[in-house]
Amino acid sequence: MVNKGQKYSWNLRSLNFLATLTRENKQFAIIGLGRFGRSVAASLHKMGYEVLGVDIDEKLVARAINDSIATHAICLDSTEPNALKEAGIFEFDTVIIAIGNYIQESIITTLNVKEAGVSNVIAKASTEIHGKLLEKVGADRVVFPEYEAGEALAYMLTKPAILDRFDLDPDHSIVEVLIPEEFDGKTITELQLRSLYGLTVLAIAEDDKKFDINPLPNRRLHQGMAMVVLGNNKDIKRLPI
Ligand code: ATP
Repeated sequence: MVNKGQKYSWNLRSLNFLATLTRENKQFAIIGLGRFGRSVAASLHKMGYEVLGVDIDEKLVARAINDSIATHAICLDSTEPNALKEAGIFEFDTVIIAIGNYIQESIITTLNVKEAGVSNVIAKASTEIHGKLLEKVGADRVVFPEYEAGEALAYMLTKPAILDRFDLDPDHSIVEVLIPEEFDGKTITELQLRSLYGLTVLAIAEDDKKFDINPLPNRRLHQGMAMVVLGNNKDIKRLPI
């Protein structure tokens, strides 16, 4: 079972607290304009970022331009370092390798961009072994979109109280959860969240727009409000939500 490089993000009633932690970055190159690459390109472009789309298939490049899912799109073979260099791909600080089904091309492309010094390379893996190879050639982050979407759906269906989630490593996360009935009217000290659950409360929602960061131990919790906690995934699972 794949358990590396997971990232979950779904928004039921999230206050987008975690979104504020993500790094500002204005330009992205996306290599591979299959369904996944197109979806990443379209989302980033819609958010106002500059996106360069790349594919070896000129029909997909033309489609990306026609559908306005990227600022620019180029047809090239990303296994060729010179082609990437000429297209200016090595100047981007973030490059997304969205080639899931062509393992050799995906590995060589990742190696090319890492060897050229691109600082942030995110690569899509289709299998666990593919993910390990991408890490070996230097990918800074490996994503498994099908696996992650399936897991996120399962969480959403079974744990609707989890509003947002940010994985720090495979064992530790920061989650935004709805305060359960059992915690209603109790203070952080009374609940002994650190000693009984091993969790640190980072923030509690004041209302639907603002969080109280680093709440005091005498802060009282109320059912249905959101709180952000940091801890081990096993401990987070023990919350009565
Ligand atoms: P799906 O579309 O099924 O979600 P995916 O997004 O992982 O899967 P793939 O089937 O892996 O997509 O294809 C990714 C894209 O990468 C294809 O459009 C393909 O033309 C492109 N591609 C493959 N090899 C190269 C290469 N050497 N240089 C540039 N683009 C490539």
